[in-house]
Amino acid sequence: MKKQRVNVVTLGCSKNLVDSEALMRQLDHKYQIFHDSDLPSDIVVINTCGFIQDAKEESVDMILSAIEAKKAGNLKKIVVTGCLSQRYKKELKDEMGEVDAFFGVNDLPEILKTLEVDFKNELIGERLLTTPSHYAYLKVSEGCDRKCSFCAIPLIRGKHISKPFEEVVVEAEKLAAKGVKEILLIAQDLTYYGLDLYGKRRIAELVQRISEIQGIEWIRLHYAYPAGFPEDLITLLKENPKVCNYLDIPLQHISSRILKSMKRGLDGQGTKKLVHSLREQIPGLALRSTFIVGYPGETEEEFQELLDFVKETRFERLGVFQYSPEEDTSAFDLKDNIPAKVKQDREDRLMELQQEISLELNKEKEGGIFKVVIDKKEDEFYIGRTEFDSPEVDNEVLIPIGDHELKPGNFYDVKITKSDYYDLYGSLFPKR
Ligand code: SF4
Repeated sequence: MKKQRVNVVTLGCSKNLVDSEALMRQLDHKYQIFHDSDLPSDIVVINTCGFIQDAKEESVDMILSAIEAKKAGNLKKIVVTGCLSQRYKKELKDEMGEVDAFFGVNDLPEILKTLEVDFKNELIGERLLTTPSHYAYLKVSEGCDRKCSFCAIPLIRGKHISKPFEEVVVEAEKLAAKGVKEILLIAQDLTYYGLDLYGKRRIAELVQRISEIQGIEWIRLHYAYPAGFPEDLITLLKENPKVCNYLDIPLQHISSRILKSMKRGLDGQGTKKLVHSLREQIPGLALRSTFIVGYPGETEEEFQELLDFVKETRFERLGVFQYSPEEDTSAFDLKDNIPAKVKQDREDRLMELQQEISLELNKEKEGGIFKVVIDKKEDEFYIGRTEFDSPEVDNEVLIPIGDHELKPGNFYDVKITKSDYYDLYGSLFPKR
C-alpha cells in the first residue's frame, strides 16, 4: 500500500529537533517520513521557532512557501507546530487560513490525531534520529524558571519540568543501543536539572550515570546557566573522561548594570569569578558562550567592557545575538534605543575579535594529536570533530581522504598539521 509522504521541517534549536524526532517516530509506521526534505510530499509538518525576530520571520516564510506549494497542488496538508505556533496561534490562524492545523509545543497526541495516527505509549522516549547515527541530542527537561528580561522562552515553553531521572537514563540506553556514541545533553537551563522534581540539582549525578552506559564515549554539556553553577559538575568535568572537556554556558554580557537589567542573577564580578574557577579547576576546558549586543541602553563603554572580557577570557567558541525586543518580556518595556546600524557594528566587532582569538587558539593546536570522531565524508576530506567541538556550531577537523577508509562514527587519533580561523587540518596518527 503506497504510504503517504510526510516531510517534517524543523526550525530553531536542538530542543525543537528532539521534538520533531519524537513525532517522526510515532508517524513512522503509517507514513513515509522525510526530514527537512526538498522532495515532494503529501503532508508537511513545520516545527517552528519563535525565539527572536529573525527566527520568527524564517518560520513565517517557511509556512508561506508551504501555502504556495498547496495552492499549486503540490501539497495536500500543512500542519504547523512549535514555538511560533505556541506563541501566536490565534494571529497565525487568522492570517493563514490555508494551514490545516496549528499546534503548540506540547501537543504531540493532538498532532497525531490530526494525522490519523494513534499515540503509542510504548514509543515514549523513542525517536527517529535526524543526526548522523553516532551522535544524538538528549533533552533532560522542558521549559525554564528563569526570568531573563530579554527572553520569551518561559512564555512559550512554560515552567521548568525535569524529565524523571530513570526516564532520561532509559532514553540514553536506547540511544546507545542504536549505536549512538556521543550524547549532547540539552535543556533551556541544564544546570537546573532536578531542582523542581527532587529539590536538589542532580545534573552531575545524571551525567555520571549516563557515562556508565556501555557504548557511550562522549557526553557534551549544553545550555548551562552561570548563576548557582553546581560545584559537583566542575568535579565531573575535571575527572570523568567520558565527559567532553567542553562547556556551553551562555553569559549574555559582563557589565553588571546590564546583567542586572537582564535579571541574570549574577553580576560582572560573579561571572568573572565563575569563569576563572572553571579555567583554574578544569585545564584545557573549551568554553562556548553566547552574548547579546545592543541591549537597551548599552553604552559604548559597556560594550568595550564586553570586548575586554572576551579578549581576556579567550573563549574557545563564541556566538553573538543582536538584542531583539520580544513582546511580554520584561525588557520589552525598555526603549530599544540602540540603532540597528550600531547593533550590527557591535556584532561585527565582537566576531572580528573572536575570529582572531579562534585563529590563535587553533594555531596552538598545530603539531598536537587529538581524538577525532568522523562525522562525514565531503569532497576530498573526511570531516570530524575533537571533544572541543559540538556538531553544527563549532570547528571541524578536515582529514584528506588519501588511501585510507575512515568510518563515520569511529574515533581516530589525528595529528593537526594546519589551522584556519574555524577549522583544523590533520592526518591520521601514527601515519598510515
Ligand atoms: S535561562 Fe534565561 S535565556 Fe535561557 S531559556 Fe531561561 S529565561 Fe531564556
